[in-house]
Amino acid sequence: MNGVARFVKMVTFWELLKGMAITSRFLAKPKVTELYPDVRPVLPYRTKGRLHVEIGTCISCRMCEKACPEGCIKVFQPSKEVFKTDKRPVEFYLSQEHCLHCGLCVDACPTGSIHHSQEFEMAVYNPDDLLFDKETLPYDLDLKHFRWNWIENAPVKK
Ligand code: SF4
Ligand code: SF4
Repeated sequence: MNGVARFVKMVTFWELLKGMAITSRFLAKPKVTELYPDVRPVLPYRTKGRLHVEIGTCISCRMCEKACPEGCIKVFQPSKEVFKTDKRPVEFYLSQEHCLHCGLCVDACPTGSIHHSQEFEMAVYNPDDLLFDKETLPYDLDLKHFRWNWIENAPVKK
């Protein structure tokens, strides 16, 4: 850039005008800033949030446990005698702390008992709070986010 061009740019505040032109382009566009946490974001349908387990339909097959690359899941089967009539696990531990949210456990489950929810706020002060057991693993159907049979459960676009 020669000296004259630089001088013209300086006296016409060229860089400032360029900046204002960019700003004005976005003035007319809708705002993209989200007022989180007052306004909750609508997450994509297949969001892989915190895992939920429905103990009631779990058959203690341990497929999820074997599929997990991080060893986050530990399922304790009932005794052989009990298993004949009640296949639900005696205990089910899930460490969300080390979870990769890969979904391999969800895909491995033959009964669709383990699935991702849309819960994404998992910040805790104590990492132990991310270890869930049979009692604390939520299985609220309203919060459920199916990846199992997700096509059948996908919202119909109109
Ligand atoms: S989502 Fe992946 S890392 Fe997390 S518990 Fe399931 S298999 Fe393990
Ligand atoms: S794979 Fe499904 S049914 Fe089997 S132990 Fe895990 S959650 Fe239960």
